[in-house]
Amino acid sequence: MSNAFWAPVSIRKRADGTTAVFPHFIMDRGKPGMITVDQRGKRFLNENTSYHLFGIAMQKANETTPSVPAYLVTDAEGLRKYGLGMVRPGSKGFAPFLAAGYLTQVDTLDQLAEQLGIDKAGLADSVARMNRYAQTGVDEDFQRGTTAYHNANGDANWSGPNKSSASDRSRARRSMRSGSIPAILARRPASPPIPTPSVFDREDRPIGGLYACGNDMQSGGNGRGVYPGPGITLGPGLAFAYLAARHAAARAQAKMKLDCDVLVLGSGAGVFRRRSRRRPAACP
Ligand SMILES: Cc1cc2nc3c(=O)[nH]c(=O)nc-3n(C[C@H](O)[C@H](O)[C@H](O)COP(=O)(O)OP(=O)(O)OC[C@H]3O[C@@H](n4cnc5c(N)ncnc54)[C@H](O)[C@@H]3O)c2cc1C
Repeated sequence: MSNAFWAPVSIRKRADGTTAVFPHFIMDRGKPGMITVDQRGKRFLNENTSYHLFGIAMQKANETTPSVPAYLVTDAEGLRKYGLGMVRPGSKGFAPFLAAGYLTQVDTLDQLAEQLGIDKAGLADSVARMNRYAQTGVDEDFQRGTTAYHNANGDANWSGPNKSSASDRSRARRSMRSGSIPAILARRPASPPIPTPSVFDREDRPIGGLYACGNDMQSGGNGRGVYPGPGITLGPGLAFAYLAARHAAARAQAKMKLDCDVLVLGSGAGVFRRRSRRRPAACP
């Protein structure tokens, strides 16, 4: 399960029949007034955690309670302000999303639970708890808003006591949802990381001139069971590609020098003259 980097995504069929996939990275799931619930209507994770841990939490929760798909729930104000998945902020143009079943729009939480086929009492309890946490600023269940990372995924301009977790939704008129499922963002090799772009043979000897970059090599950030943050795949990919290119260039220069040395040392003057037409340009 963890030999990959994960992200929650929502999917929708486009009018032309193709599938659109939206990764819920940072734009919605951790904003004030948004909660994620399983099919019992219960929150089961800190919505502001990294998308990698979010994806893992969904799968873990799903072992005991159906949590794939899970549902992102907000109200009209949350939708207007932050958008929801493919629905952009501004609360316009819902029709195709409603028609596709990507978005559900109702007047009460009970109706929402009915339409989603999830537990009414569970959903009501989750929202009531979250509204209470909005007043206290303390998420007693999942400690949302207790780290700088959570708050960065929240709303810095939020005036309530917790910038990531809460808003008082007791006045909510509509509830919206978007179903989300975990999807692989990037593969991560199972074996331990190695700090070089060289490819090794079965006896752990570097195979000269063969390099691996990107997720198929095992950089310092990959393979340790953690996801330090965005950039952990492309960053090392770039860095090790640079190292590989430098190594390859140095190897080519060394080989060229060796060719030249052999040529000079191994040839008499006459031979040298005969071979000089094929002499590498950089040879002295
Ligand atoms: C929506 C999204 C957002 C992301 N955002 C970020 C981000 O902000 N920061 C970050 O660091 N990472 C991010 N990632 C992850 C990052 O994009 C990947 O980890 C990275 O692109 C992997 O690079 P790679 O070169 O290892 O593999 P790939 O980019 O998958 O390249 C592998 C290539 O090999 C080709 N290939 C496969 N099989 C064969 C074959 N048999 N023969 C020939 N060619 C083949 C494929 O076509 C492909 O072009 C994101 C990923 C997604 C999906």
